[in-house]
Amino acid sequence: MNPLILLSIYPQKEMLLSDNNYPTPWLSFPDIWKNKTAWFTWLRGLLRRGWNKSPVKIEFLKENRRKIKNPAKKGKREIWGADCEVCGNTFPMKDIQVDHKIEAGSLRDFEDIEGFVIRLLACEKEDLQLVCKGCHTIITHSQRTGLSFEEAKLDKEVIAKTNQPVKKQKEELLGAGFKEDEISNKDKRRDCYKKLLGDS
Ligand SMILES: [Zn+2]
Repeated sequence: MNPLILLSIYPQKEMLLSDNNYPTPWLSFPDIWKNKTAWFTWLRGLLRRGWNKSPVKIEFLKENRRKIKNPAKKGKREIWGADCEVCGNTFPMKDIQVDHKIEAGSLRDFEDIEGFVIRLLACEKEDLQLVCKGCHTIITHSQRTGLSFEEAKLDKEVIAKTNQPVKKQKEELLGAGFKEDEISNKDKRRDCYKKLLGDS
């Protein structure tokens, strides 16, 4: 957006503009947003909440759900559920999420808004898929890190293991045949878990 376009939005106003001629609400309201990152984090959250209420998302969920056997012992015998497109397993709807096959991407500057909004909110049904919560976390992790799905899955498992108390990690790793000097610090234990979980 150039200053001329901004002038057409605010004809009589002199505005504090950033280097690339966009407004700078975080400078106007420093008590609300401490910097540009904070402002865009707020905007991203706002748009994502909008997607959660999108009639397209709600319709997609309704079209793709089916009656499944209730895995819980109590309650109804049949509940709504769906299959995860990634792992193929069946889950109750509370554990199913709608994933954009093409991620909405980053939203860190005004120039990103158009693409982000189009990918997030103006998507077609064929751009969407149902995935379970577990697979969704892995997809997000692989998008953030650039790892493949399988690598991201392993990475997540290793992170979960190395977040356990050290005592518990040592017990597990000694039990799996590693020696004391192979598990003496965090980096070493991470490598051991990578080996252990990567091979299985
Ligand atoms: Zn899954």
